[in-house]
Amino acid sequence: MTLCNCDKCGRVLLTKYEERCTSCAQLALTESHLVKAYVRANPGATVMEVYHQTGVSLQTIKDLMQA
Ligand SMILES: [Zn+2]
Repeated sequence: MTLCNCDKCGRVLLTKYEERCTSCAQLALTESHLVKAYVRANPGATVMEVYHQTGVSLQTIKDLMQA
């Protein structure tokens, strides 16, 4: 088993397979649902609108849009 740090919060993890700890992975999932639901309900919304309406960080929104 290897020690590494969570990509997001820096918490130490006991695995090398996960880049994020459980709570950050859960938060990322919740945020992706929020953003997708907003975009579905508001087609053509800009990144700034999504950011203001959902409270999800700009970087997270951009990552989601590329995915
Ligand atoms: Zn974390």
